[in-house]
Amino acid sequence: MNPILQVSDLKKHFPVKGGLFGTTVGQVYAVDGVSFEINRGETLSLVGESGCGKSTVGKAVLRLFPLTAGQVVLDGKRIDDMSAGELRPLRRKIQVVFQDPFSSLNPRMKVRDILAEPITNFGIATAKDDIDRRVGELMDKVRLPRDAVNRWPHEFSGGQRQRICIARALAADPDVIVCDEAVSALDVSVKAQIVNLLQDLQAELGLAMLFISHDLAIVEHMTHRVAVMYLGKIVEVADKRDLFGAPRHPYTEALLSAVPVMEPGAQFQRIILKGDVPSPIRPPPGCRFHTRCPYAFERCRKEEPKLVATGSNHLAACHLHDLPEAENPLLKTTGATAFRAAQLGAA
Ligand code: SF4
Repeated sequence: MNPILQVSDLKKHFPVKGGLFGTTVGQVYAVDGVSFEINRGETLSLVGESGCGKSTVGKAVLRLFPLTAGQVVLDGKRIDDMSAGELRPLRRKIQVVFQDPFSSLNPRMKVRDILAEPITNFGIATAKDDIDRRVGELMDKVRLPRDAVNRWPHEFSGGQRQRICIARALAADPDVIVCDEAVSALDVSVKAQIVNLLQDLQAELGLAMLFISHDLAIVEHMTHRVAVMYLGKIVEVADKRDLFGAPRHPYTEALLSAVPVMEPGAQFQRIILKGDVPSPIRPPPGCRFHTRCPYAFERCRKEEPKLVATGSNHLAACHLHDLPEAENPLLKTTGATAFRAAQLGAA
């Protein structure tokens, strides 16, 4: 199967201006060589702490700004070097749901007009009856009452607004949806409802989804694969079961240790990372994670690890995998990873 979305060696550097004349004095290495692909009907979650570059990847894939380097191929067509005119018909194929449902909807447009806009802009329907029928179907899909199309955005709750944002993304009949922290601003119970809705829509429509989130607990039950980002790079990517059950990067291990495991009476140790994420203007030499890694050794400070296979469909960038198995702390199963592996295996 050909992937619907392929991203190769994507880089996005932003200039840092300074001095009296606003000259460029440095670069923010926001995304620094990221590659992945997504198949139809698949969810890839991009996770990491705030500032790791995951949202920049989403915006770059949507071509909201030019890339510094790399390629983005959508449904077999390279889109990173297309002009705005060439890109226009393809924009329909990739849509986005942003984090904040309050600022994402035009407060001066009724829901009907918000949903009709992409339908007419992309030429999906032109006759009023066809547009109204399609708007009604979109409301059904996101489980909102049809008669709510005559209301204004401020008349809805946060969760309902996010449903409208999802309906607007679906209005263009896309192949890929980028969800950029799409549930982060919602209450816990509403989060679960929106995640369930996205899962159902994906299964029904065969959508590919790039799900960007800082919260591993959210992605655990809804993703197929996970890519973990740290300081502009992917440090681990694997199927959900492998990543949650047997993490192969110390950063993933630390992130997972903060995700609660619901096993009565079990004791699980949280790994607290030292210090803050270093500045993307001056990333550390060698492994970018070495300033916070509990296992860092001499080689880590000098040599950057490559993202290599550590198992079937499981890639990680860590020098520990060059050590003999008995000396590699990442290969030891903990109570938490064994429990997750068993849970996900049974799912
Ligand atoms: Fe830690 Fe070294 Fe592995 Fe980087 S390469 S994650 S510093 S052990």
